[in-house]
Amino acid sequence: MIEVFDEGLHSGVNLALEVGTVLYRDKTEHQDLIIFENNTFGRVMSLDGAIQTTEHDEYIYHEMFAHVPILAHGAVKKVLIIGGGDGGAARQVLKHKGISVTLVDIDRTVIDLSIKYLPSISGGAFEDPRLQIVVADGCRFVKETEERWDIIIIDSTDPHGPGEVLYTQEFYADCKSCLTEGGIIVTQNGVPFVQAEELRNSYDRLGTLFADVSFYLATIPSYVGGPLAFGWATDNTSCRKLSEGELANRFLNAGIETGYYSSDIHKASFVLPLYVRKILTAEK
Ligand code: SAM
Repeated sequence: MIEVFDEGLHSGVNLALEVGTVLYRDKTEHQDLIIFENNTFGRVMSLDGAIQTTEHDEYIYHEMFAHVPILAHGAVKKVLIIGGGDGGAARQVLKHKGISVTLVDIDRTVIDLSIKYLPSISGGAFEDPRLQIVVADGCRFVKETEERWDIIIIDSTDPHGPGEVLYTQEFYADCKSCLTEGGIIVTQNGVPFVQAEELRNSYDRLGTLFADVSFYLATIPSYVGGPLAFGWATDNTSCRKLSEGELANRFLNAGIETGYYSSDIHKASFVLPLYVRKILTAEK
């Protein structure tokens, strides 16, 4: 009898993955955590029934999460990752020379099990001396810290359970106060086709705080429903207008290996299809 992992994230929509070996299945202090093998995606991690990351497509998500803001900014020294306990975003950020990372995740067990069962995703990031791990609620951390960062990557679960606080106006305002001049915030903002309300809420909330708010898209096969939106918020209105040629230069000078990110994908990812633009501009 084949076991099936059934992700019922959106009403009437289910993603069923055949489960090979279950490597881990238990409640952590904060979340239901499963790590299992699947023929197509390799090892898969889910939290509270939602797929978080898979070995075979994580690079798309983590490359776009890290390289878009870092190469657009052009002079990043410090990056804060809220969430991101699988280490994938940290691994991509640490490909850039001269950058230090603070990773704040509420659940130490996610980090420990990602190191143990998903080592290819963090790729040694957790052992890198440039990475500092803080186990805390990201919402509290940004409220209390005196530190500042050039980029804040909000690599959270969806707005349910412990991740819910990472989509509030108050949290975004506290993140803004942790940014250096011209810093950039990027968020995990769901799949617009099935999570339109989440997208619009973030757009409206970030719009009260920043001069330039938008989204950029990438299709991650294990996130059902179409392209995923990354939120973009900054007062540095020039960095989204960089030419593809300038981005290509910066990408070349960074000297990093990627499997999805390129300077033309970077530029094109900000072109939003009409149905997404309609979500952002519809009368409320
Ligand atoms: N790629 C995934 C997605 O799109 O949903 C996110 C991956 S990452 C595993 C999500 C992380 O957010 C988890 O490690 C979880 O522990 C963390 N998290 C959830 N709520 C949090 C909070 N309030 N503060 C800090 N980390 C949180």
